[in-house]
Amino acid sequence: MRNTYLPYGQQWLDEEDIQAVVNILKGNYLTTGPTIAKFEECVAKYVGSKYAVAFSNGTAALHGACFAAGIEKGDEVITTPITFAASANCVRYVGGTVVFADINEDSYNIDPLEIERKITSNTKAIIPVHFTGQPAQLDEIHAIAKKHNLIVIEDAAHALGAEYKGVKIGALSDMTMFSFHPVKHVTTGEGGVITTNNEFFYKKLLQFRSHGITRERSNLLKNDGPWYYDMQFLGFNFRMTDIQAALGISQLRKLDQFVARRREISQIYNEAFQNNECLFIPTQHVDGISSWHLYIIKLNLDKISVTRKEIFEALLAQNIGVNVHYIPVHTLSYYQELGYEEGSMPKAEELYEAIITLPLFPKMSNEDVEDVINSVIMELEKVKK
Ligand SMILES: *Cc1c(COP(=O)(O)O)cnc(C)c1O
Repeated sequence: MRNTYLPYGQQWLDEEDIQAVVNILKGNYLTTGPTIAKFEECVAKYVGSKYAVAFSNGTAALHGACFAAGIEKGDEVITTPITFAASANCVRYVGGTVVFADINEDSYNIDPLEIERKITSNTKAIIPVHFTGQPAQLDEIHAIAKKHNLIVIEDAAHALGAEYKGVKIGALSDMTMFSFHPVKHVTTGEGGVITTNNEFFYKKLLQFRSHGITRERSNLLKNDGPWYYDMQFLGFNFRMTDIQAALGISQLRKLDQFVARRREISQIYNEAFQNNECLFIPTQHVDGISSWHLYIIKLNLDKISVTRKEIFEALLAQNIGVNVHYIPVHTLSYYQELGYEEGSMPKAEELYEAIITLPLFPKMSNEDVEDVINSVIMELEKVKK
């Protein structure tokens, strides 16, 4: 057994990253200085979008995207139940109604056929999530969006560096969100971004993250003088600091290397587990190349004599930092109180009963990977039917 705890995810910072932050601390701007714009430029360049707007975190960025999309009370927005709560919560922040569409049992991503079934005259947007880093079926989703005149906001918190049909995720829909939380591909401590090719959304997002205030002269209804600004809607202070942006720029230099290592580790897991009857390895959709934010095994509950909980606890006891992604969002108390029913998303709920997330982060050594593999195989062997 390992004698140190191996977390499921962790950042990788080096001296260069630390120096980048120190340089900001020694300079004149701690926040909303020139480094934010540089970071935004780096992100936009990497994903191939025209614009990027940095936010204090990914959740705030999603909130901004829902606002920019004009979602409000009475509007319905379709998303997946197998995601972090923030993918749905952002709709609630602007007063909209969340409509869940069940997943595809192979990819674990939102099923376009289920989206189609949930469309009503009130549907305004779709928020697909590229779960674990595997791109959702964007062609099908865009076709539905076009047919019904809907806005698509990708929650790509797992998918920085992922590709759909040979193109990087980040400029394929109206808006795309990435998160820079420490477990994600690169980190700014806390941080998020919206990428877009749409100038209208871009300007709304900039204004939204800074109180709804504008200083753009051409945008003012009156102008008392050079000091004058206007607040035109109720925005927030959702700005990222230059300290974080500097860390982000430095981290982005290593992104491709990080993603390559994530893919390598996932491949080692796949090979070790592919013939194991007690579990299913993640399947990959032909149209996408995953950036492997998460590696999730699905237990074959017919072949083992215990539940997921026993396996989970046994792995934890061996210092393997397993996790579960995710508890279906519609089953959480807040959504239950809003009237969403357990049992309404059978595929998501069935998946939830059987999944375990294994440690996966670029800084893991090959020995760490072996420890995980050995523990999983050993625990499953014990309970095999
Ligand atoms: C991490 C994450 C978010 C939120 O990002 P934060 O930066 O933590 O606010 C949203 N959606 C998904 C799927 C995530 O994994």
